[in-house]
Amino acid sequence: MSFSGDVKRELSEHVGSARHCLIAELAALICACGQMSADPPCLEVHTENEVPYKKTFTLLQKAFTIKSLQEHHQEGGGWSLKITEPAEILTVLSACGLVQRTADGWRLEGAPEERITERVCCRKAYIRGAFLGSGSINDPNKNYHLEFVLEQKEKAEKVRELLQSFGVEAHVLSRRRFSKEIYVTYLKDGSQIADVLNIMGSHASLLRFEDIRVVKDVRNKINRQVNCEAANLDRVISAAVRQTEDIQLIDEMIGLDTLPKGLREAAEARLAAPDASLSEISIRLGIGKSGVNHRFRKLLEIAESLKKNQE
Ligand SMILES: [Zn+2]
Repeated sequence: MSFSGDVKRELSEHVGSARHCLIAELAALICACGQMSADPPCLEVHTENEVPYKKTFTLLQKAFTIKSLQEHHQEGGGWSLKITEPAEILTVLSACGLVQRTADGWRLEGAPEERITERVCCRKAYIRGAFLGSGSINDPNKNYHLEFVLEQKEKAEKVRELLQSFGVEAHVLSRRRFSKEIYVTYLKDGSQIADVLNIMGSHASLLRFEDIRVVKDVRNKINRQVNCEAANLDRVISAAVRQTEDIQLIDEMIGLDTLPKGLREAAEARLAAPDASLSEISIRLGIGKSGVNHRFRKLLEIAESLKKNQE
């Protein structure tokens, strides 16, 4: 199963005991997957997957007594729950803060009233329900991405606001899907995604996510280090090649014997070990690195002036 599927399965087993939390999570699921029709009256929660469907069913059963609740499952057509008794629809939607009174009756609101998500526990429950009904998360082995796909901007903004109340900065963008405008609340930061898993109460998935993140971080650090060392090595080699060329030039033109003792020793040490680093040469000569550096600079100056005389 996908990482996203694992998170959802874990969240489906997470059922709060307080009624306010059950209602908040149910409100999120109705916002994500609910539809209202007036004639005949019907509140339908339709999901592509079984997990959010089962959770909706459990929440409805625990928080209400609904006689007109019907279950439908069509092969390839997803799952749906229908409430057909107007009084029962109104009870559920009023409890979830999702009823808008209109001139000719009432309709389903885009996002619930503030009171539904006033408590911290209920905000967590709402985010959990929104994820079950509209969310997905990428396998952290690939890239960090968590999103909620919703049909109205108001709904996407509601999720963004609730995440923000926990210090998680998500973004909302609109996208076209099947010639319909949809709104996506998304985040791409690994540590913030870990925070969201924690907020939703998806603790087993959070541990797995963090394990993968630690391994990835270590791997990235090693890669950076290897690249950095390779760059250093390139510098060491190109400096050594240059020094060897200079010394060979000096040897051909005036002979290494003509050099003062210190310079001659440095020149011979370089010729004996063309790919040694400055530190290795300094150990060989028994002098400090800056001393070796100084001698090579002198040799370079001599080679430069010989080249100039040659021209
Ligand atoms: Zn609560």
